[in-house]
Amino acid sequence: MSKGIQPIRGMNDILPGQTAIWQQVEAVARVLFARYGYQEIRVPLLERTELFKRSIGELSDIVMKEMYSFEDRNGESLTLRPEGTAGIVRAGLSNGLLYNQQQRLWCGGAMFRYERPQKGRYRQFHQLDAEALGFAGPDIDAELILLSARLWRELGVGGLTLKINSLGTPESRAVYREKLVEYFSAHADGLDDDSRRRLEANPMRILDSKNPDMAGIIDGAPSITDYLDQESARHFEDLRRYLDEAGCEYELAPRLVRGLDYYTRTVFEWVSDKLGAQDAVCSGGRYDGLVEQLGGKPMPAVGWALGMERLVALVEQAGCAAKPAVPDVFFALLGDQAEFRGMRLAEELRDAPDDIAVVCNAGGGSFKSQLKRADRSGARLALIMGEEECAAGTIAIKPLRSDEPQQSCEQHELVERVRQLLAAGEAGL
Ligand code: ATP
Ligand code: MG
Repeated sequence: MSKGIQPIRGMNDILPGQTAIWQQVEAVARVLFARYGYQEIRVPLLERTELFKRSIGELSDIVMKEMYSFEDRNGESLTLRPEGTAGIVRAGLSNGLLYNQQQRLWCGGAMFRYERPQKGRYRQFHQLDAEALGFAGPDIDAELILLSARLWRELGVGGLTLKINSLGTPESRAVYREKLVEYFSAHADGLDDDSRRRLEANPMRILDSKNPDMAGIIDGAPSITDYLDQESARHFEDLRRYLDEAGCEYELAPRLVRGLDYYTRTVFEWVSDKLGAQDAVCSGGRYDGLVEQLGGKPMPAVGWALGMERLVALVEQAGCAAKPAVPDVFFALLGDQAEFRGMRLAEELRDAPDDIAVVCNAGGGSFKSQLKRADRSGARLALIMGEEECAAGTIAIKPLRSDEPQQSCEQHELVERVRQLLAAGEAGL
């Protein structure tokens, strides 16, 4: 272990060998968002603590024990965002985007939760968020789900299961909540400490327990589906019809309740059997009460968030991950004159219309060590120029990934020759 400053537990560096996969996922998602009419919004990492208390709920796990909150120099309590929706809605309200309008938005970036770090669960993690504000019907719930399903397909990720449920309205939920408290109180002996605490504060979260000892009790609990009000039941039925028509498979999951307090009606989750215990890749739902709760006029809304770390792991496992970019050409240069002229020739190569990637040797070294660097760089061609070539106005070209012999060309022909060789390589010649 180095004596340097240690990284913070649960906060990862994403190293150069990994960033290509992140860029790949982000690029595919960015294109899909645009194709479905979702516009990007970027909001601050910091918000007033009050925002998350009011939206996620004072009694939620996130607000009770997972937030990174601190006082700024003015004594104001600020919090690093633990999720994206609250900030997006706040931004919509602050900027008048929600006034008699519909918005399809997406947002990406780092989130912070003080959780117990383990595989797939970190203290800084990244999400992509999609939110549709101002739409009440099940059509938009379906659209959002189909968008996520297309994202898995385009990334080559299989084996994901969609689970859906409806939580009804706050009124129908209150009735169900009472039944649930009744039921769990009667089975209090079988509850673990966490669940006993939740019995008062947030009984629906007991259904979310991952403790296998409680599986039996949870299985026997009343089902929320039996307590749905008529309109919510209809909304849920129509959502299922949209998904059926589109050929999007799902499982009904009456125990799926989601961790945030603000959900109403539709909730859903995509889970994978390839991620171990942290199996949720994407989750979301409808939050019709949130905009009003944050001071706006009542406005229906629905959205989802996906966990980038978990999705990136799935892309890697599927063998579909992009490789780090390699240069086309490595320029080996020996001697003063060659170094000065080489930099100019490299720029001429980069001026060519085919976006040639050129890495120039920098900092000297023998030809032997430079050619080692060229090989390690993954470049297809090494260009070699020493005093001799400089004087003769030529340059040597050495193919690094085939047995073809080294050749020589005039410096003024270099750009054309390199383009030809790279094009022939592309064509597999
Ligand atoms: P989980 O049940 O895994 O705790 P959650 O219900 O807290 O997830 P959300 O708040 O809905 O998750 O976040 C959406 C997605 O973000 C999750 O499905 C997951 O992929 C990812 N995610 C959530 N928390 C973390 C974390 N601490 N580290 C990595 N990814 C996370
Ligand atoms: Mg969680």
